[in-house]
Amino acid sequence: MISVAIDGPAGAGKSTIAHKAAEMLGYIYVDTGALYRTVGIAAIRKNTDLKNKAELKELLDSINIELKFENGVQKVFLNGEDVSEKIRTPECGMMASAVSAIKEVREFLLDTQRGLAAKNNVIMDGRDIGTVILPNAQVKIFLTASPEVRAKRRYDEFLQKGVQVKYEDVLADIIVRDKNDSEREIAPLKPAEDSVIADTSNDTLRQAIDKVVNIVKETLKTKRVIV
Ligand code: C5P
Repeated sequence: MISVAIDGPAGAGKSTIAHKAAEMLGYIYVDTGALYRTVGIAAIRKNTDLKNKAELKELLDSINIELKFENGVQKVFLNGEDVSEKIRTPECGMMASAVSAIKEVREFLLDTQRGLAAKNNVIMDGRDIGTVILPNAQVKIFLTASPEVRAKRRYDEFLQKGVQVKYEDVLADIIVRDKNDSEREIAPLKPAEDSVIADTSNDTLRQAIDKVVNIVKETLKTKRVIV
């Protein structure tokens, strides 16, 4: 099986780029942020005090998360309910960032992620895919862009979906999440030593997708991986 790990900060365009690249390569695309967002929405609904270990355990014991793929599109289910769209709010993004700093949550989601890569050729995106989840991935890419470019892309996405937000708030969110994600003790966001850094600040979407597909093809060729 071939695993492509794509890590990087919030709003680097990972999901859009990785999704399209996976389509072009014929791999399945796994958006691991959706898993953290799903734990996040469950915590919001249960009003869980994340600092309380007993409440956290109760939360994790009560949730079952499944990823399903319909025509290559990932759907995420929380106890049988399709929450794929509901987790896309800024509130869920923030909560995802909070729950993702908790060791028990990361362990809880580990098997789901490794299981998918064991059975499929995957492009998996997240924060610690190349460093922790799939350290043996044949291709590792760290996708990034400036905070302003990332905020603008997120802002446009929200507008398209009809979610009312201010650009300044999106930028502030991104800066807070970058700090949370890179300074946390567990699985901090950092490029794997053997990753290729791809900065897409000056790329159009098309160029960024081509960049990723080329890195995958070139790396597999150099490593003589048979596809
Ligand atoms: O990528 P997305 O914005 O959906 O991720 C939401 C949050 O989940 C991130 O800010 C990050 O804190 C967390 N996350 C993570 N590890 C992953 C994927 C996401 O910690 N593999």
